[in-house]
Amino acid sequence: MQFIDLSAQYRALKTEIDANIQAVVDRAQFIGGPFVRELEERLAAFAGRKHCVSCANGTDALQAAYMALGVGPGDAVFCTDVTMAASAEPAKLLGAQMVFCDIDPRTYNISPESLERQIKAVLAEGSLTPKAVVAVDIFGNPCDYDAIVSVCERYNLSLVEDAAQSFGASYIGRRCGSFGRIATTSFFPAKPLGCYGDGGAVFTDDDGLNQLCRSVCVHGKGPGGKYDNVRVGMNSRLDAIQAAILLPKLKALAEYELDARQAVARRYSQAFAGKLATPFVAEGCLSAYAQYVLLAEDRRQRDEIVSHLNEKNIPNMIYYPTPQHVLPVFQGEPRYGERYENAENYCARTFSLPMHPYLEEKEQQLVIDTVLEAL
Ligand SMILES: *Cc1c(COP(=O)(O)O)cnc(C)c1O
Repeated sequence: MQFIDLSAQYRALKTEIDANIQAVVDRAQFIGGPFVRELEERLAAFAGRKHCVSCANGTDALQAAYMALGVGPGDAVFCTDVTMAASAEPAKLLGAQMVFCDIDPRTYNISPESLERQIKAVLAEGSLTPKAVVAVDIFGNPCDYDAIVSVCERYNLSLVEDAAQSFGASYIGRRCGSFGRIATTSFFPAKPLGCYGDGGAVFTDDDGLNQLCRSVCVHGKGPGGKYDNVRVGMNSRLDAIQAAILLPKLKALAEYELDARQAVARRYSQAFAGKLATPFVAEGCLSAYAQYVLLAEDRRQRDEIVSHLNEKNIPNMIYYPTPQHVLPVFQGEPRYGERYENAENYCARTFSLPMHPYLEEKEQQLVIDTVLEAL
């Protein structure tokens, strides 16, 4: 059994994927070209955005977003305390300070109340300028955008949606990737929409930000093209071969993989209801279930379950063992007295089970039985 079975997906899509890879090799056009253009159009249409700019990975997509928004020294960027470092790292690299916020205890996404507390604290302290909020749809579950957008508007902050884990998810009739001035995603193989290497994309409705992201991803190119360099940028492109692989995968995601993920999540949640804390998805929302996360009663019970799963060779992971504010890289970031109780509690109790659209019922039953045995 695999935690995420990419081979099963390849077997289902082999004919189309192989033909597309061969087409790239036959055309010998490896950077840019028709597959990349078609993919950007389809991704933008799927997410419900005017523009999509593909790039080399999800971290670069966030860096392009922060660069396009002018994030730099003296700025405060607000981020959830439960995510991977990639959400915050590019803003830090650009010289901004990260201000971490506690999570909502039900969705594990950024708490709008903690966000507002931290913004007020930054304003009261006075040395940093509140600049942007990065909202991460953690494990594929959309953030509370009504509340977050209203906080961002109240304090005139740019919202960035980190949809690395939530491509395919939706929030009250809108797909993830459509929130914020800029949204980003990742095509790392294990994400809900993954390629066969690294890839990423930026989404926006704003023509100016689209131009800036395109420029920043190609050495700060100007109107005269890539040798007319008008700003400092990066070299961040999606390979044609990855675009060719993503096209049939996007189709499968939309046609059946999202439904299959819901079915797997439903079976787990029915089996564990009343025994462990199962994922909460708000009314009107659909999670992409990048991960299926359970919370044990406490750290001791979590560690017992995990060691039983390991003994029985059932794949499992802990996303994430450490809140961001505790990581060595972020220990110098200002905290303004925030206690991160929900984030600490979450990290002590969490563990994740095998989750992918090709998980068979009998495999899933084995996972369920093994967890129940440990209880
Ligand atoms: C995976 C991920 C990223 C980074 O994407 P890469 O393609 O690995 O650079 C950023 N944010 C979140 C929440 C992620 O899960």
